[in-house]
Amino acid sequence: MSQDLDITMKSQENQKKYKFMKAALKEAQKAADKEEVPVGAVVVYQDKIIARAHNMRENKQIFHGHAEFLAMMKAQKKMKSWRLEDCEIYVTMEPCPMCAGAMIQSRIKKVYYGVADKKSGVATSICHLFDLPFNHKVETEGLIMHKESEKILKSFFQKLRER
Ligand SMILES: [Zn+2]
Repeated sequence: MSQDLDITMKSQENQKKYKFMKAALKEAQKAADKEEVPVGAVVVYQDKIIARAHNMRENKQIFHGHAEFLAMMKAQKKMKSWRLEDCEIYVTMEPCPMCAGAMIQSRIKKVYYGVADKKSGVATSICHLFDLPFNHKVETEGLIMHKESEKILKSFFQKLRER
């Protein structure tokens, strides 16, 4: 492959990543507006968003109300299958063990995440869960637009403290 073509393809790939992560950030903002910890997620199939969700744990009082978990539930409904092997997920924060487990169980192809979560992230922060030899390997790519994700989280917690 010529170098120019390689660069063009890389930049198209990056544009795609930003586009979908921006959609996930939009979801995160919706969570903030509902006084939820602002995390958002979208599931992508054949370059199209098939499911969007944001954190709803407080409003719904469900422990699995994390953005990426809810987005995957919507995606399996849309796909009429629990197998999401041709789907990719974009989430604004590093997944927790529950959501990472759901990604492995649903055979998600790849997860793109934003800011690292030092307290419960299992892609790299607490452990490298996705690197363990499970029956399904989820590809990961972190720190996509992580500054934007972090900004939304920081301003949310800042507002909470000011109350
Ligand atoms: Zn989670």
